[in-house]
Amino acid sequence: MAGIESLGNIKTYRRLGIMGGTFDPIHFGHLVAAEEARVQYQLEHVVFMPTGRYEHKEACQYVSPEERFTMVVIATASNPYFSVSRLEVDRAGPSYTIDTIRAVSEACGTETELYFITGADAVLDVTSWRDYEKLADFCRFIAVTRPGYDLAHLRAIVSRGENAPQIDTIEVPALAISSTDLRNRVSEGRPIRYLMPDSVANYIHKSGLYR
Ligand code: ATP
Ligand code: MG
Repeated sequence: MAGIESLGNIKTYRRLGIMGGTFDPIHFGHLVAAEEARVQYQLEHVVFMPTGRYEHKEACQYVSPEERFTMVVIATASNPYFSVSRLEVDRAGPSYTIDTIRAVSEACGTETELYFITGADAVLDVTSWRDYEKLADFCRFIAVTRPGYDLAHLRAIVSRGENAPQIDTIEVPALAISSTDLRNRVSEGRPIRYLMPDSVANYIHKSGLYR
């Protein structure tokens, strides 16, 4: 399976986290969420899964999947528990979470428990994801707090059908950072330092992204 081989000895993990996102660009909000989930759930490893091509609202700020992938690699390089998958980046069409989770699950084998990490805003959409009920066969969800989004509503919104995925919620340090704001900052010449790793900020400026 393309993109799985880069994950190392994936079969040896008993508890594996998957951090999905467009990462356009990656920032400290993503990294804090993944690290908190890793430690609180004793995950042996967290795989970042940047999406492939997706619908862009601001065409002028378009950054390719390859460049988003590169920024995630740069941002996660210093953490031995983090790695990045090419699985969705290498797919021609859109990726559905169910297909990605199924592919990772098959690569790991049945001994590995999968945990999909997502922010409070994204998890509120989970019920609209394709084959949402089937996700429960493959993974559990860790929903992390995010400033501006209320996790309390989640329980009411998510159907509590017998087969609905299990969604746990965890508190993470509140960082009011979003990729949308970062894209606007770069295009308007405002600072992005201290909102993401210096190495990523340098890459953005050096490559002229989001101008
Ligand atoms: P955009 O503004 O382009 O939507 P974003 O900042 O929301 O970007 P995404 O790539 O969409 O970043 O998010 C990937 C995952 O990380 C989602 O599950 C999202 O909820 C979560 N996330 C993003 N930023 C934060 C944050 N500051 N705190 C907690 N979770 C976050
Ligand atoms: Mg988002």
